[in-house]
Amino acid sequence: MFGKNAKVDLELNRIVEQLIKTGGKEKILPIVQAGEPVLRQQTIAYNGQLSKHTLLKLIDTMHTTMLEAPGVGLAATQIGLGLALAVVEDHVRDDEDDPREIAEFPFHVIINPTYKPASDKTASFFEGCLSFDGYQAVRKRWLDIEAEWDDEDGKRHKERLHGWPARIFQHETDHLSGELYIDRAEIRSLTTTENLEDYWCNDPVPTEAAEELGFAL
Ligand code: ZN
Repeated sequence: MFGKNAKVDLELNRIVEQLIKTGGKEKILPIVQAGEPVLRQQTIAYNGQLSKHTLLKLIDTMHTTMLEAPGVGLAATQIGLGLALAVVEDHVRDDEDDPREIAEFPFHVIINPTYKPASDKTASFFEGCLSFDGYQAVRKRWLDIEAEWDDEDGKRHKERLHGWPARIFQHETDHLSGELYIDRAEIRSLTTTENLEDYWCNDPVPTEAAEELGFAL
């Protein structure tokens, strides 16, 4: 549980209810883009400021918004809300030998998430963000992490994540401290989605991109 003294913040609860309402029947909210101050905010830890009913509606709306985008993660800041929570979900695609090690990552909400590296191994791949639409860049990430988060009932979870799920978790958790993936990406690898498909999609390992565009792997 989110602490015995957890108290619903009526003003915040009202703001969130209002925000959810703007999503209409489709439950799809606009995703804010780079340059919006909220994306650079250190979010506030979630400790029960919302009623359970509102929290569940918020999670549902974020889930629908993420799937529709489509994306594999969505942080609260991306819908303009400075609370420390995000939703994640990804599924295995056709190619089992994909070097990015994409794995089943069932839908869940990650509240007050943190992570630390669980080995010194890193992986560099193209990565994108729904708040930096139309571009991707190579970002080095920890390959293995020890991830921690609260679920919607306030239960703390601790799990070791590897490969692509570890990358998604790092990306979403970083959002909640006002960071965007581009902050520490290889800036010379920045490419439009169109050029990514035209030039750099055949091999997910960006060795050729590094040579041609001039960045270190
Ligand atoms: Zn993002």
